[in-house]
Amino acid sequence: MFENVKEIPGDALLALMVAFKNDPNPNKIDLGVGVYKDDTGLTPVLNVVKKAEAFLLENEVSKGYIGATGSPELGPLLQKLMLGDNHPLITESRIATAQTPGGTGALRVAGDLINAVNPAARIWVSDPTWSNHFHVFAGAGVEVRTYPYYDADQNGLAIDAMLEAIRQIPQGDVILLHASCHNPTGIDPTAEQWDQISTLVAERSLVPLIDCAYQGFGEGLEEDVYGLRTLLSQCPEALITTSCSKNFGLYNERIGALSLVTEKAEHCQRAFTQVANCIRANYSNPPAHGAAIVTTILSDHALRQQWEQELADMRQRIQRMRNELVSSLQSLNCNRDFTFIAQQKGMFSYSGLSKEEVLYLRAHFGIYAVESGRINIAGINDQNIGLLSEAIHQAIQQ
Ligand code: PMP
Repeated sequence: MFENVKEIPGDALLALMVAFKNDPNPNKIDLGVGVYKDDTGLTPVLNVVKKAEAFLLENEVSKGYIGATGSPELGPLLQKLMLGDNHPLITESRIATAQTPGGTGALRVAGDLINAVNPAARIWVSDPTWSNHFHVFAGAGVEVRTYPYYDADQNGLAIDAMLEAIRQIPQGDVILLHASCHNPTGIDPTAEQWDQISTLVAERSLVPLIDCAYQGFGEGLEEDVYGLRTLLSQCPEALITTSCSKNFGLYNERIGALSLVTEKAEHCQRAFTQVANCIRANYSNPPAHGAAIVTTILSDHALRQQWEQELADMRQRIQRMRNELVSSLQSLNCNRDFTFIAQQKGMFSYSGLSKEEVLYLRAHFGIYAVESGRINIAGINDQNIGLLSEAIHQAIQQ
């Protein structure tokens, strides 16, 4: 079976991580990998997570299976986090949520569901998007197409081209939109642009799949779901994939969720049985620990307050680093304008650096970024920002 199997090239980001690890340079800087890092370069366990885990260690009574759609408490808590209390979708029972292994698991179940209920539907993703979107949907047998998103000349959103492309998408297809902190560009639509996008998505009878992987990492827990709420106020049906990896720092616990929004409550119950069926055929049921942590935090007033504070600390550190990188480059009299970096949201930034400049940074300074020019702002800290700015200044003069 395996003698003629072709080797598949490894993930470019993983290769970058290995190259970084093997680089002996003591001043090397990792701007590649997509995890939050604190000012000392660590990806910490949040204190509030430690507290919740201590509680669980004492109080957990069983390691029994939790069922295909996971923790029954998690869904309502995540729904409220995204929609707010007493949202009509909740009170009208038009939303149902299944716990999944991370946001990736949610995306895969969404792909399986689309394939099961409407095999002709294509899914449209932004150009560029998180590269795994292509693998996950192709793996689920759903054809992936792209719509324009990034305007390289302006380092901004190509809103006109995006809207024009959405106008051409056939009715009934699925369109994936990043709720906030677009990966990889860091460029989010403004409120006004979200209004335009939502109106058009509804007019075209498209089904939005809202990938909500960074709630609280951009401007705030409420601000980061403006687009999500606007889409849901206009579109009768939707899918939402949630990741708790970033905002709870629970990357390796694999905790996320898939929410299904339907026009009528009875559609929701029926369609949810299809979600359960996709999960059973895939991994049977999800791991329990991450959901127990998130549930413990979100259902306790004091823990929730502490989580919001720790989340705000992460968000504010990222924003501070964005601002400081811009002013540090300005103080070096760089002959390129980088002010757009301070306007972008979340961990990632399309920095505008070319592939050659990225490779120059790696070869001469041990600074590792993705060849597209995407940098993880959370990899910048007070210790390395001086060197980084100097290196960028040199790289763009080559
Ligand atoms: N969607 C986007 C846009 C992401 O950036 C990521 C994580 N890189 C995910 C989904 C998947 O998150 P998780 O690690 O929870 O699977």
